[in-house]
Amino acid sequence: MSQNFVTQQLSGWGRFPVETCNVYRPESRRQLAAILESSSQPSLISYGLGRSYGDAPLNVQGGVICDTRLNRFLVFDEQSGVLECEAGVSLAEILRYFLPRGFFLPVTPGTKFVTVGGAIAADVHGKNHHQDGTFGNYVLDFKLLTPKGDILSCSANNNGEVFWATLGGMGLTGVILSARIKLRPVASAWMQVDYQQAANLEDALGSMTESDIHYQYSVAWIDCLATGRHMGRAVLMRGNYAPVRELLASIRDPLAEPPRRRWTLPFDFPSLALNSLTVRAFNTFYYNLHRNAARQLVDLETFFYPLDAIYHWNRMYGGRGFVQYQSALPLAGGLEGLKKVLTRLSQSRRASFLAVLKRFGKSNPGPLSFPIEGYTLALDLPVASGLIPLVRELDGLVMDYGGRIYLAKDALMTAPTFAAMYPKVEQFREIKSRLDPGGVLSSSQARRLGIVRK
Ligand SMILES: Cc1cc2nc3c(=O)[nH]c(=O)nc-3n(C[C@H](O)[C@H](O)[C@H](O)COP(=O)(O)OP(=O)(O)OC[C@H]3O[C@@H](n4cnc5c(N)ncnc54)[C@H](O)[C@@H]3O)c2cc1C
Repeated sequence: MSQNFVTQQLSGWGRFPVETCNVYRPESRRQLAAILESSSQPSLISYGLGRSYGDAPLNVQGGVICDTRLNRFLVFDEQSGVLECEAGVSLAEILRYFLPRGFFLPVTPGTKFVTVGGAIAADVHGKNHHQDGTFGNYVLDFKLLTPKGDILSCSANNNGEVFWATLGGMGLTGVILSARIKLRPVASAWMQVDYQQAANLEDALGSMTESDIHYQYSVAWIDCLATGRHMGRAVLMRGNYAPVRELLASIRDPLAEPPRRRWTLPFDFPSLALNSLTVRAFNTFYYNLHRNAARQLVDLETFFYPLDAIYHWNRMYGGRGFVQYQSALPLAGGLEGLKKVLTRLSQSRRASFLAVLKRFGKSNPGPLSFPIEGYTLALDLPVASGLIPLVRELDGLVMDYGGRIYLAKDALMTAPTFAAMYPKVEQFREIKSRLDPGGVLSSSQARRLGIVRK
């Protein structure tokens, strides 16, 4: 029973690439262990909720273990806020249960539809990286099932090397079974947000450098089609949790979220709908919509997960899918590097509604963890002819400035580019070979990037 799999076409959130994989959905730890021990697949990889954009959770013609049925809360200590749960629990499930009890996620990506296992494996970051670092900073420990059948308890002090290699290790060190996470106590489900227009990139980065320290959360939407003296014009959205005394009298329960209307994009947009004219018009509208405003009350869901309000928004980029191009550039030279990237993008006339700029704080010891101190820019590029040469050019620019591409978003990087961007990969391979000498765990991405042998 546990060895049953279904062969299906699978993709990440970008719907590119789409690959044929053999998908297992174990319902117990025992079934999971049996798959790892004796499946007939050439290799296996974990799959959470498929919110990474490319092929990190895919394994063409191989096995994929989807762990969303292993999703129990195990223990919660209300005093310390420490939650122990299985890795298939989603951040949405944690919020649904714990926000009304006064706890929020310590670090959250821009969607709540990711699993705890996926959040650890990508060592995800949020709008508070400059203050709080990555999700891994709040993982006290986790249990990892290795292909040898061992269950390792890993923390920064116990099996520390495995702990750090697994944070950002994209599922290649083992299957995360469960984790203990320290949740953040909050008094309300509301933020106080300042909106500030920035006339160009210098202005945006200058404001972030000068005043991000006053905000726990900071992010900027950026107009990646603006050129000349407006290049990189942006809207900074920065905020802190709203104290209860600041809430409107009409908000009876500070921890209750207001009801939210949800939409579904019912079909793929035709590719003509998205072009530089429509995006330019949208960008002008969006920029002008956000006039400078201070201390606006915004509920957590709207602030952290604006896109979750539209189910299947990834259909907006049409049936061929899209890639999200997320780079990080170091502080030194970062401004110049970002300008080069934006110049190249505006020349290419590629459309991206969603271009997001953030500041990163210090990196952690994870050999494949993405953030480096500096800036990160994420934008969506629809799949169309000419995309691959463009991405190669952008990769070259990012590399020239000492930057890197996020593995959770990547679908196109080459092995030499990856090796140059992640110089600690050899340390990662060494740890992986000890945990997985037979090379059981492998993904389409890991083979493309040469993290594992083909
Ligand atoms: C709208 C949107 C916004 C996003 N915003 C951000 C953001 O702000 N910051 C950020 O960092 N990321 C962001 N992401 C990316 C997302 O947070 C990561 O890709 C995350 O890893 C997805 O989790 P998942 O459960 O969907 O995992 P999947 O996408 O299914 O898998 C991701 C990786 O985790 C591994 N994995 C999954 N489960 C396990 C397990 N139990 N054990 C071992 N390995 C496992 C997989 O093998 C794979 O390598 C965003 C994604 C979307 C769609």
